[in-house]
Amino acid sequence: MGRSVLVTGGNRGIGLAIARTLADAGHRVAVTHRGSGAPDGLFGVQADVTDVEQIDAAFEQVEQHQGPVEVVVSNAGITDDTLLMRMDEESFTKVLDANLTGAYRVAKRATRGMLKAKWGRFVFISSVVGLSGGAGQVNYAASKAGLVGLARSLTRELGSRNITSNVVAPGFIETDMTGELTDKQREAALAQIPAGRYGAPEDVANLVRFLASDEAGYLNGAVLPVDGGLGMGH
Ligand code: NDP
Repeated sequence: MGRSVLVTGGNRGIGLAIARTLADAGHRVAVTHRGSGAPDGLFGVQADVTDVEQIDAAFEQVEQHQGPVEVVVSNAGITDDTLLMRMDEESFTKVLDANLTGAYRVAKRATRGMLKAKWGRFVFISSVVGLSGGAGQVNYAASKAGLVGLARSLTRELGSRNITSNVVAPGFIETDMTGELTDKQREAALAQIPAGRYGAPEDVANLVRFLASDEAGYLNGAVLPVDGGLGMGH
């Protein structure tokens, strides 16, 4: 009957595609949202990943509804792009708090149950930019690079307990996040993608479906690109 899955930020974009794909694969899937409500057919819990109490309450609801969380997809994330010279401290810490510290909070809360079950899957949604860097994205790139250190440390701490921690690094995926870019920025990005197209949220979701499966049990501490070749060499 599948696994108990929680996808943060699963109410839209890449997170929603991951949630639907895992549900189609037979898992019991819950998503967090910040007030939009649950998408049709999915179990939703309200939680902001910058708030540890909301995370704890969300886990309790999910545990009651579908059992202890066995698969965590840490997907919630934001951007606040500007060049370093213009980036104020609030912008830097806000992005780190949501993208990196949020992932830490969720992972910490989930670990208890996974240790008890002697089985678990962490998937952290990073970005090609976490490895290559991005002009105007000092805060975002730092947060996404931080997920690699977080996941690999978890692999060392929990790897012997049948718990895997992997990082997915998407390239340019068509969602609200990339919809905010100018036509010029979108064209410049496309010119760099060997696949010759932007990615779809489902391209990321298909990889996550595999990482969440029993078959992926020996894949641990990996950083897996899903970017049409955009990040090759990093
Ligand atoms: P969207 O902007 O479409 O969705 C972001 C999601 O994260 C929303 O569900 C949003 O919730 C949620 N979220 C943001 N902040 C918080 C928070 N503090 N607490 C809880 N939830 C939060 O982005 P994408 O779907 O494009 O991105 C999903 C992930 O993939 C992000 O981590 C992003 O960095 C990463 N990524 C995206 C790429 C792309 O090209 N699109 C490329 C590489 C990585 P709400 O609806 O409430 O705002």
